[in-house]
Parts: sequence; structure tokens; C-alpha cells
Amino acid sequence: TVVGVPAETAGGERRVALVPKVVERLAARNISVVVEPGAGSAALIPDDAYVHSGATLGDPWSADVVVKVAVPTDDEIARLRAGAVFIGFLAPLTQPEKAQALRAAGVTAFAMESIPRISRAQSMDALSSQANVGGYRAALVAAEHLTRFFPMLTTAAGTVPPAKVLVLGVGVAGLQALATARRLGAHTTGYDVRPEVADQVRSVGAQWLDLGIEATGSGGYARALTDDERAEQQRQLAKAITGFDAVITTAQVPGRTAPTLVTAEAVQGMRAGSVVVDLAGESGGNCELTSPGAVVVEHAVTIAAPLNLPATMPEHASELYARNVAALLDLLVAKDGALALDFTDEVVAGACVTGQEV
Ligand code: NAD
Repeated sequence: TVVGVPAETAGGERRVALVPKVVERLAARNISVVVEPGAGSAALIPDDAYVHSGATLGDPWSADVVVKVAVPTDDEIARLRAGAVFIGFLAPLTQPEKAQALRAAGVTAFAMESIPRISRAQSMDALSSQANVGGYRAALVAAEHLTRFFPMLTTAAGTVPPAKVLVLGVGVAGLQALATARRLGAHTTGYDVRPEVADQVRSVGAQWLDLGIEATGSGGYARALTDDERAEQQRQLAKAITGFDAVITTAQVPGRTAPTLVTAEAVQGMRAGSVVVDLAGESGGNCELTSPGAVVVEHAVTIAAPLNLPATMPEHASELYARNVAALLDLLVAKDGALALDFTDEVVAGACVTGQEV
């Protein structure tokens, strides 16, 4: 099997789908790799490094399997040949037309978002690997915008208390944000509508904020709240938030607009100089005052909603993503290196978004 790695074309995207270390590992599995010249340059990986690891430079679009990070553009889909396999983020719930276009082009496509979140597929879970990067970075963004210290300082000039950081929505990104904020010395608290998360929050040294609203959905995700629950949550959070220096929000419900957790009124109640970092900007944001991709100041509170934070750490984000892709390829390619798609496998069937014909 030949795997092609195109250069990413989305604005600000610095990641690349395979890295040299992983190319080596694939070679041992009889999988060869064709890399588009310059594909790794934004991730600081020179073409030479790919060649050194056994890849060739050339046209990635004629390969048997094309692997990408960002959702493919229509032009990119048009470059895939019928019978090819595509692997990458595909936003199957919010941009179903992509999967339809791939299907119409005769391509068998696997969406990284659709890999079942079961133990056996953890090594392929790119949502988690990238959310870890985003969560880590979100804590740093909060620290950078906050005009106060994160850690407690005991100095000859007196003592500075630690910052209080609240994370709303404690999935993979939220948990990493809590852990990172604590490593920086902040006093941390986590909140989620899935009560099973409380132990994970405590395991990273944070307090658990319980507002009495439970909304566990299916597949390890939250369900959307009812109107009454949402109003009650916003009211209670507005009260709770006043005591925090930084609020990091990550709440998402798959396929839906992000829920509003922090109202304009809640922001008004925060102390001047406080910070909101909204990781849900891509799906509209968790704060009413969020402007996706921008940093705004309202009521003397900074509200930052950076988009695609994983792309700001392209080396590690690419490395982790590449390992996820390689783990999926392990499942799709037989020992002799030939493609062997087994749609009776729940991971293969679950991740495929174009139907099961090859
Ligand atoms: P996500 O990005 O979909 O959502 C982030 C968090 O927001 C979730 O914890 C969700 O409960 C929370 N949320 C949604 N609506 C909310 C609201 N109105 N108020 C407050 N919080 C709200 O979640 P994710 O990071 O992709 O992970 C979801 C879960 O799946 C995690 O608990 C994770 O441990 C689990 N998971 C399991 C596996 C596995 O078993 N293989 C792999 C990855 C993740």
C-alpha cells in the first residue's frame, strides 16, 4: 500500500498528517509513503527528514490511501482517484456534504471524528490527542492574558494568593487545562454536566463544582440541556463565576452549536482584569460575548476564543496525530502490506463515512 501525505492548505494549519518517525514504523509494515514536497515545513519537518526515514517526495494524490489533518476542500476531493481511501478529520456531523462528495467520487473515507471511543481504539483517537494539545495551550493563553499571577508567591514584599481557575466542560481538553493550570500554581475547579467526571477532576488536584444538573448522553458525551436546565445552569454559573480569575470553557455536544454557559451578565459580574478563554469558538462559543478567533475586552474582562490551538504546537500535535493515523492504518492494511478493509470490525465500520463498498 502507498500512503500519500499532502501539504495542508487551510489558513493557519501547521500540522502534517505523518511525521518521519511514523513513516519508518509504516515501512516495517510494508506501507510506503509519498510526501508532497514542503508538506512538513510548517511543522518544522524538512523534506530531507522524510526522505531519510524512507519516504519519497512526489504527488500524494495518486496514492492508494491519502491522509490529511484538516477537512479536505472540494478541490482536494476532486484530486482523489476513484477507489482510493481517504483518512482525516471530516466533520461528518457538521459538514455531511464532504462525506457525500467523497462517496460520489468513489472514495472510501474514514473520519477521525467517527472512530468509536472504545478502549481498543484509544490509540487512534485523534479527537483526544488534539484536545490534549488544545487544553494545555488554553491554560497558557489564560495565564498570558491574566494581569495577575497564577501561582501563590511568598516574597519579602508580601504574599500573593494563587489565581482561581474554573474549567467548564471537563472532557479531554478540560482535564488537560485543569492539570496545566495547576502545574502553573493556580487553584483549580472543574465543572461538567456528566457527574462521572468528578473523580477525574479530583485526580488532577482540582475541586469539583456541583450545580445539580446531570446530562450524560450516549457514547461518553453530554446530551443537550433542556431550555429550563440551560437557564438554571446560566443563572448558577453567573453566581459561581464571580469568584474566579480565569474561566476556561470547552463544552461541546457533538454536531450541535456549543451551549452558552457564560452569559454577558456573568462576565459583567467578574472582577476587572479577569479572563475567559473559550475553546468552543469553532462551534459558536460557550460565552455570549465570544468572537470566534478574536480577543475582545468587555466589562474589563478579556475574552479570548482562539481557533485551532493544536496547530500552534505543530511538532507534537502532528506527532500524536500521525500515531493515531498509523494505528488506524494498522487495522486497514494486512501484514503483507495490502489493503484489507474488514467492515465487520466495529472500528473500521464506525469510522467509515462513505458506506462500505470499496
Ligand atoms: P467534548 O469535547 O465533546 O465536550 C467537552 C466537555 O463538555 C464534555 O466533558 C461534556 O460533558 C461537556 N459539556 C457538554 N455540554 C455541557 C454543558 N451544557 N455544561 C457543561 N459541560 C458540558 O468531550 P470530549 O473531550 O471529546 O470527551 C468526552 C468524553 O469521552 C470524556 O469524558 C472522555 O474521557 C471520553 N473519552 C473516552 C474514550 C475511550 O474510552 N476510548 C476516548 C476519548 C474520550
